[in-house]
Amino acid sequence: TELLADRTAVVTGAASGIGRGIALSLARHGAAVVVADIRDTPRGGGAPTHERIEDETEARATSVHCDVTEREGIVDAIEAAGTFGGIDVMVNNAGYSRNEAFTEVDTAAYDDMMDVNAKGTFMGAQVAAERMGETDGGSIINVSSAEGLQGIGEHPTYGTSKGAVRTLTYSLADALAPEIRVNAIHPGLIETKMTTEDTPMIGTDDEDEFREKIALDRVGQPDDIGRAAVFLASDLAGYVTGESLVVDGGMTST
Ligand code: NAD
Repeated sequence: TELLADRTAVVTGAASGIGRGIALSLARHGAAVVVADIRDTPRGGGAPTHERIEDETEARATSVHCDVTEREGIVDAIEAAGTFGGIDVMVNNAGYSRNEAFTEVDTAAYDDMMDVNAKGTFMGAQVAAERMGETDGGSIINVSSAEGLQGIGEHPTYGTSKGAVRTLTYSLADALAPEIRVNAIHPGLIETKMTTEDTPMIGTDDEDEFREKIALDRVGQPDDIGRAAVFLASDLAGYVTGESLVVDGGMTST
């Protein structure tokens, strides 16, 4: 039987990268998916995620234009889940990173990153919880980072925002229980535009240094995070809330 049959998921930042991997994984296990992104097409080109879901899986999917810093966009995405029977799973994944020297970070840049990564997650959870509260509950999954657990000197604002996502998760696990489970995923080094272009780690001189820390000796792929999201979304994780699931090939623990 399908783990997520009759479930509907909203995934923010699902046009590209990890969000797309999560959306496809949830759909492979039977969930209808609302792809919510500020972009309509993937970074780097290719078919929009909802088209790939409909081509590659049996699941239904749609896309909604959504900037997670605007409450209205989040409401629109969650409303769209109504056409599939209403939201059961909310994945707050939208986010970005930046290389910066701590002493040179200006407050506008700080505010913007906190708006997207931290406030976007907060509001995504808030709007989803309202809707899930009207039905029979659900699962909220927040995408933090290995950097929500440990620091990288070049990413002080990013680390701050991802630490906020981690502790928000603990707070909500308590506040929204027992109807709604709330967990965080902490990806390690995953191959996306973020890690190849925005804050390049893969394909750079530093790659070997990062890889040396990864016990499983490979960089992660979006599907690696997608499968973790399937677990947390499904009844397999029925007794799991307030958990930080680190999916990093052993990077932070070995
Ligand atoms: P990505 O750039 O490939 O994808 C991010 C997606 O989020 C894009 O489609 C983008 O349009 C969307 N997005 C950005 N700002 C948005 C906004 N305001 N509203 C709606 N959508 C928005 O990056 P990725 O690597 O897939 O990152 C996804 C998440 O995973 C982020 O939260 C990131 O911090 C986290 N993460 C990534 C890694 C990694 O190694 N790639 C590691 C840990 C955590």
